[in-house]
Amino acid sequence: MYQKGRAWIELNMEHLLHNVKQLQRLLPAQCAMMPAIKANAYGHGARLIGQSLQRMGIRDFCVASVKEGIELRDAGITGQILVLGYTSPRQFCDLTEYNLTQTVVDYPYAVQLNGYNKTASVHVGVDTGMHRLGERSENMQDIRRIWDLKNLNITGVFSHLCVSDGTTDMERNYTLEQICRFMSVVQFLHRTGIKGFKMHLQGSYGLLNYPDLAFDYARVGIALYGAYSSPHDKTVAPVSLKPVLSLKARVECVKELHAGECAGYGLSFTARHEMKIAAVSIGYADGIPRGLSNKGHALIHGKRAAMIGRICMDQLLIDISGIPQAAAGDEVVFIGKCGQEEITASDFAGEAGTISNEILSRLGDRLERVVD
Ligand SMILES: *Cc1c(COP(=O)(O)O)cnc(C)c1O
Repeated sequence: MYQKGRAWIELNMEHLLHNVKQLQRLLPAQCAMMPAIKANAYGHGARLIGQSLQRMGIRDFCVASVKEGIELRDAGITGQILVLGYTSPRQFCDLTEYNLTQTVVDYPYAVQLNGYNKTASVHVGVDTGMHRLGERSENMQDIRRIWDLKNLNITGVFSHLCVSDGTTDMERNYTLEQICRFMSVVQFLHRTGIKGFKMHLQGSYGLLNYPDLAFDYARVGIALYGAYSSPHDKTVAPVSLKPVLSLKARVECVKELHAGECAGYGLSFTARHEMKIAAVSIGYADGIPRGLSNKGHALIHGKRAAMIGRICMDQLLIDISGIPQAAAGDEVVFIGKCGQEEITASDFAGEAGTISNEILSRLGDRLERVVD
């Protein structure tokens, strides 16, 4: 099949390797990276990213669901795969069949999983203040009792930070409190004779902002892909990361729009003067938020072009009045570089009123993933 025909993602695996090396420099000596390759590796393509990282020597991965774990096994990933999210009892058979490690989301869940009567590998989730998954850190006896459940092979204990990207005193204090609570649980377990489990607490921002924490793993997601959640973060990061992904599509056709004419569904755009516009082969089904209608930008021939009219499921319109050389078949860049101009994932997300994590993870299946 001809690649880069309609709308596609270009992956730069040299940038991925660069980011791995940069982040490994930040990690304390005994701490390994456990890349988060959930949501199709934040839209990048889980198979391609998982296989590349494995070739770079990375052994351990985390995903959100059993289905994602199975996809990685099918792609030849042989190391540990931790399922961070909930797995229904109906899928417990897949955990053992595919040798996936399940998160214990609280004590009752541990009992339920133990009742499956086959040994399941697990990491125990501890809630230190996010109040999402994990047994509450103050319920130390309940956490301790998970080790009495004979069908659980407990290889790790972890928690998750919820304001590690924040830099205000309040946010830093909250994070320090979470670290404290996590350490209390670990020390309690050690005192009762439980040892030999791995510990992990940090995601990308936990690592970037608290690199001195000496745990066994860092569950790095967004940073590995060379994106920051918001544009400002790039200016304060202790490492220089390079974007792995570019998002591109093609000009389908070019036409004039006369003054007073409308364009697109709902007649939401009206030309105030003579214009040249282009239809582009990407839409909201591919992950361009419809909220960017009459608001977003793309790059073509090294220039910024405004999106006009409503974004459609499969197509959108841009204003190319200032770009006379634009023609059918030309590349349009939504995330990435074009000449001297660049739109980063966080710039793009900013225009859409969200963070790059959401934009990237929602990039559609219909996009080809092409390794450059
Ligand atoms: C998604 C996720 C991560 C990775 O987060 P990033 O901020 O992208 O690095 C780490 N830990 C848990 C529990 C997650 O759900």
